[in-house]
Amino acid sequence: MADYDFDVLVIGSGPGGYVAAIRAAQLGLKTACVESRETLGGTCLNVGCIPSKAMLHASELFEEAASGKLAKLGIKGTVELDLETMHAQRREAVKGLTGGIAFLFKKNKVEWIKGRAAFTGTDTVDVGGKSYRAKNIVIATGSSVTPLPGITVDNDKQIIVDSTGALELAKVPGHMVVVGGGIIGLELGSVWKRLGAKVTVVEYLDMILPGMDGEIRKESLKLFKKQGLEFKLSTKVTSAEVNGNKAHLSVEPSTGGDAETIEADVVLVSIGRRPNTDGLALDKAGLAVNGRGQVEIERDFSTSVPGIWAIGDVVPGPMLAHKAEDEGIAVAENIAGLTGIVNHDIIPSVVYTMPEIAGVGLTEEQAREKGEIKVGKFPMMANSRAKTNHEGDGMVKVIADAKTDRVLGVWIIASLGGTMIAQAAQAMEFGGTSEDIAYTCHAHPTHSEALKEAAMAVQGKPIHI
Ligand SMILES: Cc1cc2nc3c(=O)[nH]c(=O)nc-3n(C[C@H](O)[C@H](O)[C@H](O)COP(=O)(O)OP(=O)(O)OC[C@H]3O[C@@H](n4cnc5c(N)ncnc54)[C@H](O)[C@@H]3O)c2cc1C
Repeated sequence: MADYDFDVLVIGSGPGGYVAAIRAAQLGLKTACVESRETLGGTCLNVGCIPSKAMLHASELFEEAASGKLAKLGIKGTVELDLETMHAQRREAVKGLTGGIAFLFKKNKVEWIKGRAAFTGTDTVDVGGKSYRAKNIVIATGSSVTPLPGITVDNDKQIIVDSTGALELAKVPGHMVVVGGGIIGLELGSVWKRLGAKVTVVEYLDMILPGMDGEIRKESLKLFKKQGLEFKLSTKVTSAEVNGNKAHLSVEPSTGGDAETIEADVVLVSIGRRPNTDGLALDKAGLAVNGRGQVEIERDFSTSVPGIWAIGDVVPGPMLAHKAEDEGIAVAENIAGLTGIVNHDIIPSVVYTMPEIAGVGLTEEQAREKGEIKVGKFPMMANSRAKTNHEGDGMVKVIADAKTDRVLGVWIIASLGGTMIAQAAQAMEFGGTSEDIAYTCHAHPTHSEALKEAAMAVQGKPIHI
């Protein structure tokens, strides 16, 4: 250890990096974490999962109260929007949670090195002119917003913004155009729709939510339309100009055809995210990125250079916080000589709209390609708790192997879908069958009973439909 400053030096303190650092320290390794942001927690805690959920939660409550939907529950009265207070509670949530990571670093004796790290060799990095040598270096630098050619984002002006800017809007836009019908665009578009904006989602593909189950994508589109979001599918944005307080977007059918101009008060560019490797000087460590800008890894998260590891959004796979966290634990355990494994086939994905849209495992289309399957479905309208709570939109769908009955995928649209999907992921992790889920006693009345019923429907025997 004499020559090394640390056993483990983690670059980036997002859910991948901070979790890796804490687990490494828990395993007795001398650990540091370098972070270029002012606060710990990465994209997720600062400008991603947490602030977006703070706005989704608050805007959902506002919309329920303001739209008069609560009147049928006997709750009457007028409500008004205090956007500044709504933003303040979001900032408070971020402050509390990022501060919590600083506390956990202290508690676990993880050294927080403030600044931007760049490799100077295979086991050394420079941070603000100071050199650090570590036996193991974990690249957990995450991702940033993918720019759209021809469109300049300026979050300060609040006209053409990315997801970070869309969280901070000082007033509700009259018309917001969301470029990209993926998870982030639909979540943030929903926030501003609920707060009063007209929202138009422009999507290049012919359907929203790429990567999810086809039936779930179609059903979600119907529900978003019912909520008042407007969609321009199979449409590409070719340019955007800001004139005064407005943006003018040129769009045309992605399959070719006449262009048109859309006027917007705010344009949210949310076409995806790209790995952060700029300025890392990976070449000094003998590393290169693949065609998608990612750092390639083995199953144990090692890179092609011994002692350098990589996890989270900067490596191939879904860009999700819980995937990064699990990889953080696994990489630390591998560095410590234990066996850290992440089952990348079972990573749940959730859209935190109302209802939530969640899935894990194979889509019906993928499962059918692999062999014979059985599918069981159950509508949330037939679930007593959801119906009682006036949350009848959505369904649960269980996809099982026709011969072995092993669950291959579960898809849920339900108010509590993001919570319900955990049970499906666990059943699948244990190699569970639809019968295992169907014969597991579920508390009544809960939304989770819909998962049990969908599993029963795989054998054609649900009770409540
Ligand atoms: C609006 C939005 C909502 C989201 N909602 C969800 C959600 O609900 N659920 C979910 O699972 N995922 C969500 N995500 C995705 C999630 O935030 C990411 O998948 C997750 O943060 C990735 O974690 P990470 O540790 O790989 O990287 P990041 O969280 O991106 O953290 C990387 C950190 O490394 C730092 N860094 C980069 N380069 C250097 C360097 N050279 N030196 C020092 N520090 C450096 C960065 O400043 C950053 O803080 C959302 C993302 C956005 C933008």
